[in-house]
Amino acid sequence: MLSTINKQDKAVYDLLVQERKRQEMCIRLIPSENYASAAVMEATGSWMTNKYSEGYPGKRYYEGQQNTDQIETLAQERAKKVFGAQHANVQPYSGSVANLAAYSAFIEPGDTIMGLSLPFGGHLTHGWKVSATGKFFKSVQYTLDDQGKLDYDAIEDLAKEHKPKLIVSGATAYPRIIDFKAFEDIAKLVGAVHITDMAHIAGLVAGGAHPSPIPYAAAVTTTTHKSLRGPRGSMILCTNEHAAAVDKAVFPGMQGGPHMHTISAIAIALGEAGTTEFAAYAKQIVKNAKRLAEKLIEYGFTLVSGGTENHLILIDLRNKGMLGKKLSKALDRANIVTNYNTIPNDPAKPFNPSGLRIGTPAVTTRGMKESEMDKIAAFMNRVTEHVEDGQAISKIGQEVTDFCAAFPVPDTFVSPVS
Ligand SMILES: *Cc1c(COP(=O)(O)O)cnc(C)c1O
Repeated sequence: MLSTINKQDKAVYDLLVQERKRQEMCIRLIPSENYASAAVMEATGSWMTNKYSEGYPGKRYYEGQQNTDQIETLAQERAKKVFGAQHANVQPYSGSVANLAAYSAFIEPGDTIMGLSLPFGGHLTHGWKVSATGKFFKSVQYTLDDQGKLDYDAIEDLAKEHKPKLIVSGATAYPRIIDFKAFEDIAKLVGAVHITDMAHIAGLVAGGAHPSPIPYAAAVTTTTHKSLRGPRGSMILCTNEHAAAVDKAVFPGMQGGPHMHTISAIAIALGEAGTTEFAAYAKQIVKNAKRLAEKLIEYGFTLVSGGTENHLILIDLRNKGMLGKKLSKALDRANIVTNYNTIPNDPAKPFNPSGLRIGTPAVTTRGMKESEMDKIAAFMNRVTEHVEDGQAISKIGQEVTDFCAAFPVPDTFVSPVS
């Protein structure tokens, strides 16, 4: 499949092939990453790249929409079916843009929004100060309780105090089930709009492994490339009542032409997400995360909130005597890819925080199950114990690569280097 690139541009070809090899030989535990299917990747590289389609199906500003209208409608219909939503906008370029668009569908610049604080697991775009969402809107941020869990009473008190126009639920580093109804109740109480950002857990929601926010939010934003396992893209789901406002906020409010190649791939990913195999996959993600969490606890790791109920685990490394960056770099040298992260009330600096964030969507896509989680926990523990020992780390790295060989990555590319 890359033979044309190989002939035309060796520099790029080599890097693409090296990246494929890296993804194959590493245990990839970054919870926002996955392996998209071969079909999703083919659509992303397809002829739809060449088409401009500003507007929506049946209402475009360019001609030649015989196929684009149909593919966007198909993506919308599948999104509505998979998530039980009345309306779907599949055009946002990515999750960050979708959030800004969704907010602007409901409120005006300068209005107050309330989201989970970034160092407590919220996303930049939930009103963090350096983000446009923290600059264009007045932002009030809620945090977590001492156990590292959402405290709905405290959130209610904060909402009563600040009277935000919009409340965001959802997170980027939160290992527990989120009670979307509780957020909706709080929003109703203070007259705010409730928006959920389910970017991380969309695949779990699609597969019935996490309660759905759809009945409880005016609009739900999501990325399509995390646990949902599609292309890099985004969607906004909402009720018919808010459809016109959301569509207008995306185009022309925020964006120009939609990425039809991405939308084609979203349609394919949603076709996959509607299957019973995908539901089993989503449930296995959670089973794997729970097993990995159990084993890490046995090895003496401290987990924020004491464990996990979704795809994600946040490790508090303070009792291990090291910071997150040091361990994540050692793990990377051992071919285990993670990211360092803040923990709630982190005493360390944000650019070198006390936590490590891991998750199971990608390894579950490769077919790994509970017994493989035991092995991953053991690898991680060994790296932690030998964090200063370069030789030991290289040895673990070789073992990790051998371990990975039994779990093929899903793609159509003929192994480019054999
Ligand atoms: C990943 C993520 C986003 C942003 O998505 P991008 O596609 O990287 O812009 C937004 N919200 C949450 C909760 C996320 O986890």
